Amino acid sequence: MHISEPSVHSVANSLHVKPINVHLEVAVAAPITTTLTYCYPAKNAEHLSPGIRLLVPLGRRQVTGYLLAITPEQHSEYTIRPITDQLDRQPLFPKSMIPFFRWIASYYRYPIGEVIKNALPGGMTPQSGRRVLLTEQGKNFLTDFLHSNPDTAPAWMADLLDKGQLNPARTRTLWRKKRQQKELETWQEKGCLIIENIVTASTSKAKVEICVGLSNQADCHFSDNDTLKKSEKKTLTLLSEMISQCATAHVPRKELNKSYSGAGKAIKTLAEKKLVYLTEQQVFRDPFGEQPPHFSKPASLTAEQQAVLLKINPAIKQKKFSTFLLHGVTGSGKTEVYLQAAENALQEKRTVLILVPEIALASQLEAHFFSRFGRLVALLHSGLSTGERFDQWQHIARGEARIVIGARSAIFAPLSSPGLIIVDEEHDGAYKQEDSFRYQARDMAVLRGKLQDCTVILGSATPSLASFHNSNTGKYRTLTMAKRIEDRPLPTVSVIDLRSIKKEYGSLPFFSETLFSALAKNLDQGNQSIIFLNRRGYASLMLCQDCGTPVRCRHCNISLTLHKGSGKLCCHYCGFTAQSAIICPSCQSARVKELGFGTERIEEELQKRFPEARIARLDRDTSTNRKQFIKILKAVHNQEVDILVGTQMITKGHHFPHVTLVGVIWADAGLGMPDFRAGERTFQLISQVTGRAGRGDKPGQVIIQTHQPDHYAVTCAQQHDYSGFAEKEMQLRGALQFPPFSRLVNLRFSGENEEQVKRSAQVIGAQCRRLSGKFGIDVLGPASAPLSKIRDRYRWQLLLKAADSASLHTLCDTLLAAPPDLPATVRMSIDVDPENML
Ligand code: ADP
Ligand code: ZN
Ligand code: ZN
Repeated sequence: MHISEPSVHSVANSLHVKPINVHLEVAVAAPITTTLTYCYPAKNAEHLSPGIRLLVPLGRRQVTGYLLAITPEQHSEYTIRPITDQLDRQPLFPKSMIPFFRWIASYYRYPIGEVIKNALPGGMTPQSGRRVLLTEQGKNFLTDFLHSNPDTAPAWMADLLDKGQLNPARTRTLWRKKRQQKELETWQEKGCLIIENIVTASTSKAKVEICVGLSNQADCHFSDNDTLKKSEKKTLTLLSEMISQCATAHVPRKELNKSYSGAGKAIKTLAEKKLVYLTEQQVFRDPFGEQPPHFSKPASLTAEQQAVLLKINPAIKQKKFSTFLLHGVTGSGKTEVYLQAAENALQEKRTVLILVPEIALASQLEAHFFSRFGRLVALLHSGLSTGERFDQWQHIARGEARIVIGARSAIFAPLSSPGLIIVDEEHDGAYKQEDSFRYQARDMAVLRGKLQDCTVILGSATPSLASFHNSNTGKYRTLTMAKRIEDRPLPTVSVIDLRSIKKEYGSLPFFSETLFSALAKNLDQGNQSIIFLNRRGYASLMLCQDCGTPVRCRHCNISLTLHKGSGKLCCHYCGFTAQSAIICPSCQSARVKELGFGTERIEEELQKRFPEARIARLDRDTSTNRKQFIKILKAVHNQEVDILVGTQMITKGHHFPHVTLVGVIWADAGLGMPDFRAGERTFQLISQVTGRAGRGDKPGQVIIQTHQPDHYAVTCAQQHDYSGFAEKEMQLRGALQFPPFSRLVNLRFSGENEEQVKRSAQVIGAQCRRLSGKFGIDVLGPASAPLSKIRDRYRWQLLLKAADSASLHTLCDTLLAAPPDLPATVRMSIDVDPENML
């Protein structure tokens, strides 16, 4: 808790005078698990409030810290250091969120300061660094040195001479190598350069614009004023008109310039004459971009929507924590339930937080909310620029935005008193963050609801087994919407056995004639179709015809995927690319053949078969950003596309009323994954994509192609039978005692030296086994991860399983209290409630 430096007693304390300092509890943005204490003059403490950023000393560095609490000064045997600087006047998050942060840090075993750093928009974490400045003396001396030692002079020298300094990033890289650090220090001693400690500023700033207002001295009869030029009079007239029109004190200079090109110059001279004043005003960068489409409120609610709201609204009114699992089939009108529940929460003077799986889904949902609530809505998602995110964040923190829609990390939105938290498509894997700070936003939504006395709605057509289990045990209240809007039927689903197709149509095993003819018919009728395959690229495998070796990524143990459009072989895990014209890396044969298929290939085959059809493809290759994504969706909406080919991006939440046919190319693609959730994911994926058909006036048809037509994930999805699926899956999980009947912690080990990684996993594994009996824990492994190498790092894992999470946490505590000596190059990370077993 304290910075450990022994100290002398404070004089003030021993004399019993009023303490001159307060103590600040600060979470620093550094890998430290506890909070630290700093001091601050008591007389100024009223300027501080929890939730602001501070700059604080940590060892010899300066780092960003977040103020969590202010307490009276207490006697301490350590020296409590003062803070260096206060970085904010207004809190970045409300005090009410601090318990939430504390809980998360302890549950996910992640340093609390890093949790908060992750929660905040980027570019807000100044810290100290070094930079190198060239001196006058250095200019001559180093130039001479460089000339006489062109081969041996260090590379940074030319840069330093060129730019006059080395920036903190460059200096940091140099500093990492002891030799280079020594070198810089030696040149400093010779007086050629100065190594300076500086604090790098945060990069996000509020965007301001200059506004113009009429000063008191500007009398309203300026049209008669002979000392004014024509352009000045015109500008004043325009300004006073605009001010009265907008009912504001001042208007943006930009707007004046737009209406009258002579305004810019006139404003300058008018300001000198003190007739107008200039002021800065913060502008909010607009995250919506172009105006989203408008959706109006339906004339009436369906009986099911009414029944569901009759349960939800009283809960919102009561201001007590409760969680609803809203299980509504695709097209049952869940969005309208969210909208009306949100309206209710606003009436109760509370705020609303809505989580969506990723930017994909946000686009339609946010248009609905924007239509209903306008500028009360703020957005937080990865499609925003750093500046836009910063603005949205401030907008929320100041209480101006009452509704926040965002992806996973929006769970940290700085709303002070949310009355309703909605997690749409709650089963979606995107709610789990899979790197460094591993957390599950859906679970955190429920936790935040509990800590802030708020109603939580988890909505899905295919609830996760975890949520299904929680509603069985009474932890969540289940609400069901079993019918589609206007009693539209769910689509009819037929299953095609790919094994029989292969024999008949050897060359194209991924298209059945049934699917082709259904597509042809649909095209004839002018209806839209969706073709789904959860795999992008052209060919998923490049295989040597002579030695049978697949072409793998140089950095990962993964086959490269051929992307024909770009002429590249790509690794989907690390981004490595190679030219597609390749020779076999093991036998140098040039006979490397493409096998397997992805969305790019499907699109090509369809275009060959239906040359006249308008085909679009939606995957991460065609929509690398939100703009492209929305453009494609819009084209589908406007019926400018006949066939949409896509990955899981097309399965999520979209409402395309003219799509009447959905084809699933390879439904069992994910069933072979070594992961106990493979069946659950497959069922969800098929059901979601199936749900895109027949959402308008015309009924829908779905064709599922699979090698495993009898697998329960396939048959239950075919029959729209969620409960049948859940029952079967629960039996299997129960038999193996896997979640939701148990809890897991996955210890992951990675490093560049495979032997060291393996050794480390084994050492920790043995230690866990020794402790496991005491805590009733199963230790599985260690074993090499199914993806055994990614980005040049070998991966091992050790799975811990127990009936409850408390014992797992106790084991982790014991383990970390006396951590074994792992080699410095091996990284161990703790994944609490892991979802990805690969
Ligand atoms: P879900 O999210 O459950 O799949 P949506 O919320 O997208 O379904 O609703 C499907 C469609 O039905 C949308 O176009 C929506 O505007 C419309 N809708 C929702 N509620 C009503 C209602 N009460 N009356 C008429 N149309 C409705
Ligand atoms: Zn070969
Ligand atoms: Zn790779």
